[in-house]
Amino acid sequence: MDFCKTDEQELLLESLHEVMERGNFDSYFKECDKEHQYPEKAAKDMVDAGFASLGIPEEHGGTPADILTQVMVVEEAMSLGWPSLTWVNQSLAVDDMIAFGNEKQQKAVMELGLKGIKPFTLGFSEPQAGSDSNAMATTVTKRDGKLYVNGCKTFNTGANCAPYMLCLVRDFENDKPARDMSMYLMPLDRPGVKMAKLDKIGNNMMATYEVYLEDVEMEEDDLVGVKGRGFYQLMKNFEVERLLTCASNVGMARCAYNDAIRHAGQREQFGKTIGTFQLIQEKITDMAIKIENMQNMLYKTAWKKDSGESIMIDSSLLKRYSGQAAFQVIDDAMQIMGGIGYTHDCRISRLWRDQRVYRIMAGTEEIMVHTAGRALIKQAQDN
Ligand SMILES: Cc1cc2nc3c(=O)[nH]c(=O)nc-3n(C[C@H](O)[C@H](O)[C@H](O)COP(=O)(O)OP(=O)(O)OC[C@H]3O[C@@H](n4cnc5c(N)ncnc54)[C@H](O)[C@@H]3O)c2cc1C
Repeated sequence: MDFCKTDEQELLLESLHEVMERGNFDSYFKECDKEHQYPEKAAKDMVDAGFASLGIPEEHGGTPADILTQVMVVEEAMSLGWPSLTWVNQSLAVDDMIAFGNEKQQKAVMELGLKGIKPFTLGFSEPQAGSDSNAMATTVTKRDGKLYVNGCKTFNTGANCAPYMLCLVRDFENDKPARDMSMYLMPLDRPGVKMAKLDKIGNNMMATYEVYLEDVEMEEDDLVGVKGRGFYQLMKNFEVERLLTCASNVGMARCAYNDAIRHAGQREQFGKTIGTFQLIQEKITDMAIKIENMQNMLYKTAWKKDSGESIMIDSSLLKRYSGQAAFQVIDDAMQIMGGIGYTHDCRISRLWRDQRVYRIMAGTEEIMVHTAGRALIKQAQDN
């Protein structure tokens, strides 16, 4: 086992630190968070420094990078205070398109990715179908040789800025729900698409929408992958989405930990720095253990993905563990900061609001028990 970073990875992370230091974005992020605005200026600096092109194949003008490297970059950016859900590199969209997209779709998505633009919002959740994908009711029907999509999607991250939705629909032509779902890359400027913004408690810099689809006309070549295989493609998407969201968990936890440990070394009470109190040291020790565990699971899962192994179980275990562990680390960090940690002046308060959603989105921590638990038992029985 080799835990060393490659020279290329070291250089990338150094360059990331340089852009962050030069930009000195802390107060800018605070302002964007307050105003509910995407951090455009900081994102432009990252795109100019080449971070958006990471992982996009060379034939599309990108810079090849394995998933492990992309995960390390996301983690590092979050550890330096980059706002979650707004990172410029579109690794998930790129992975989805390489796996399932046709030539035209790949070209469109890679071109947007190179500019750091979110190519598509994920259109899976519906008001009545959250954890239960089989309850999905958005339909695709054929009339006079044309396809029409009708339904309602919800919690669509970045639907206001993404030109497309990766939309999961059903044709009800098979009595098994998992076999009547298909994916379409739907342009969001088509007639019949309407959206309403959701008023959430965190991740203010990336808006989330409910999207209404009324007779939205689609072309046959808007289909992504294979007709009737949408559910299986969704499961593949989730594996990678879970892995990538966990990079943010580790990064945000490290950010909070670094802020808290600095504070513990400076803040004096009872004539001593609070870091000299054993109750504070215990928190810091447990926070460090959790970060180390999360990071090891994250890198191992990314390495497995790069080696072509299935990460179905690993990404579920990682998602469940890192969502909870990161939240505990950030919560302890807030505790160490005391009252100041509960104000908008302190970025731990943003991390505390923003990270919480990672225990819910991309599969809740309870659903991770379903996906991993069943598979672990089957795996043991098969061996
Ligand atoms: C900020 C944000 C961004 C999001 N972005 C996107 C996006 O871009 N695209 C998209 O498609 N979706 C997105 N989502 C939706 C997200 O994936 C869902 O919220 C998530 O899958 C959970 O679904 P739900 O909210 O309907 O909860 P429910 O499924 O209603 O679950 C409610 C509770 O019941 C539990 N539960 C449900 N079923 C079981 C069970 N069988 N056993 C035990 N417990 C169970 C859940 O774990 C949870 O605790 C986003 C959500 C948020 C909050």
